[in-house]
Amino acid sequence: MEKLKLIYEGKAKQLYTCEREDALIIHYKDDATAFNGVKKARIEHKGMLNNAISTIIFKEMAKAGIPTHYLETLNERDQLCLKVHIIPLEVIVRNLIAGSMAKRLNIPEGTPSPRPIYELCYKNDELGDPLINEDHALALGCVSEAELITIKTLTLRINEVLKALFDQLGIILVDFKIEFGRTEEGTIVLADEISPDTCRFWDKQTHMKLDKDRFRRDLGKVEDAYQEILRRLETLN
Ligand code: UDP
Repeated sequence: MEKLKLIYEGKAKQLYTCEREDALIIHYKDDATAFNGVKKARIEHKGMLNNAISTIIFKEMAKAGIPTHYLETLNERDQLCLKVHIIPLEVIVRNLIAGSMAKRLNIPEGTPSPRPIYELCYKNDELGDPLINEDHALALGCVSEAELITIKTLTLRINEVLKALFDQLGIILVDFKIEFGRTEEGTIVLADEISPDTCRFWDKQTHMKLDKDRFRRDLGKVEDAYQEILRRLETLN
């Protein structure tokens, strides 16, 4: 399957049309941004690593019965996915407190949460992706009440599957961000990517950060961390 026309370029990925009317090709770039695009860099091999990592994770999601947009990995940087309408919500789950929540509420990073914390942000760069609740999402008119229930149910299930998967690999799933899409038939499916760009992963033994925080916080060895996540995921089969 060949890439035909570039239809969208995001911070870390490009979207192309292809011969299949109902599908798109997602191309993973090496570009990295943080703090709403203020910090920019290229992380060598990140596109290849995230494509490979997201492929393994989306296949695991499908095995667990989670509907996803993933169809096929075409080559080192390209994935064939179902064409969906992306719901403009960043859906976040936190198992341990970190990042923006640690800062906003002055809770020490690494504090466990008594139960998974479910958060929504409105995907809007100009507004800085503000934190919202389900009523705000309904008021924005971007999602229905029934879809919100599906999204929350799927998200909490995805957290359980991901947590168990990474625990097996000696990794703590601290938090993550996912996105959902609506297919032409109106089905809600997991979309976008799941990778060290979108999750916080800490080594269970050492608590070493194995994710994008190495870039955000200038901790060095960013590529090595992504490589380590892929290496451990490849031991699954
Ligand atoms: N996240 C993401 N994209 C965003 C914002 C957050 O993938 O635009 C992920 C982030 O990597 C982390 C989780 O969502 O795993 C929670 O992020 P947080 O709200 O703490 O924001 P951050 O500290 O990343 O700004």
